[in-house]
Amino acid sequence: MNKNIAVIRGDGIGPEIVGQALRVLDKIAETFGHTFTYTDIDMGGNAIDKWGEPLPAAMLEKCLASDSVLLGAVGGPKWDSQPAANRPEKGLLALRGGMGLYSNNRPAKLWPQLAAASPLKPSIVENGIDFLVVRELIGGVYFGDHSTVEADGEKKATDIMAYAEHEIERIGRIGFETARKRRHKLTSVDKANVLDTSRLWRAVMHRLAEEYPDVEYSDMLVDNAAMQIVKDPSQFDVIVTENLFGDILSDEASMITGSIGMIPSSSLGEGSRGLYEPIHGSAPDIAGQNKANPIGTILSAAMMCRYSFDMPAEADAIEQAVHKALDAGLRTGDMMADGCRLVSCTEMGDAILSYL
Ligand code: NAD
Repeated sequence: MNKNIAVIRGDGIGPEIVGQALRVLDKIAETFGHTFTYTDIDMGGNAIDKWGEPLPAAMLEKCLASDSVLLGAVGGPKWDSQPAANRPEKGLLALRGGMGLYSNNRPAKLWPQLAAASPLKPSIVENGIDFLVVRELIGGVYFGDHSTVEADGEKKATDIMAYAEHEIERIGRIGFETARKRRHKLTSVDKANVLDTSRLWRAVMHRLAEEYPDVEYSDMLVDNAAMQIVKDPSQFDVIVTENLFGDILSDEASMITGSIGMIPSSSLGEGSRGLYEPIHGSAPDIAGQNKANPIGTILSAAMMCRYSFDMPAEADAIEQAVHKALDAGLRTGDMMADGCRLVSCTEMGDAILSYL
């Protein structure tokens, strides 16, 4: 197959980790007889420096013309003083919106080799952690109107949270369909005891649940979900939730699995084109030092093969190679443990390539 991949190396550690993922993709192409063509895209802080804005229209066009997008990470202290409308993160929001990506999917999976890195007690971890958070990505409070006004001698800020039925229904369906491909269990998380958006969310989800009698469906309030994720994460298979709750819960879910550097994600909309990126940021504290863990980005490339390119054997091969590198005791600094060997970002890439 021939695939055109838009590559956003981004800022901070982005270029280092994306470099390793591209080496892996090249090896996959060679082994399985595919051709991957890469188109470099400026987005984030580097695009502000070069073009004065975080996502120039021409860059978005190139992403829309690609078969999928691979992203490292964007942002950093250099651009913290930018006005809110021109920050690197705005590029990311514009990319998700422009590509119509309304679903962000994050696996929270404990790699057995890294069980000791989980902050949870062994008695909880030994039950296994393997669930997936499906987060609505282009609606809710992040995309509502924001305003700050001066009134009665003080400032007052307002952020609008809004959801329409069709926005809930399309992400709800992704939740149910994903559960069908896994252990057939879906937990919908909301705050229906307080928020109108959540009451509408729940009504739409209940309507959908009737169409999926093979999926064991339940509702959970977001505050309870935050507790249950640390108390008994083994109860979850697929969690579906709105944008703000999903942002917070998916970060909590990733922390309990050990290293933030290990976790990939996909963002999907209509059609097969997706955006694939590790869940972490640009890690400015270790940028340029060849210390970053490239596995989250490498596993994102594996997800791209699986979900956008229909290449399950290629995805399996990448995941197995990662398993072997961990089995061999190789660790980057973020997940270093007693008895393991500390390796750099490029050495981890070398090892994974050697196991492919
Ligand atoms: P971060 O995820 O960049 O870093 C948090 C901590 O985790 C740091 O100590 C960092 O060194 C470590 N870390 C992260 N990824 C790692 C990896 N692959 N290997 C080893 N260690 C790793 O979060 P932050 O410090 O809050 O944010 C830094 C910048 O990244 C900010 O500008 C933020 O806006 C941006 N950000 C971007 C994205 C994105 O591009 N999707 C996501 C989150 C944050």
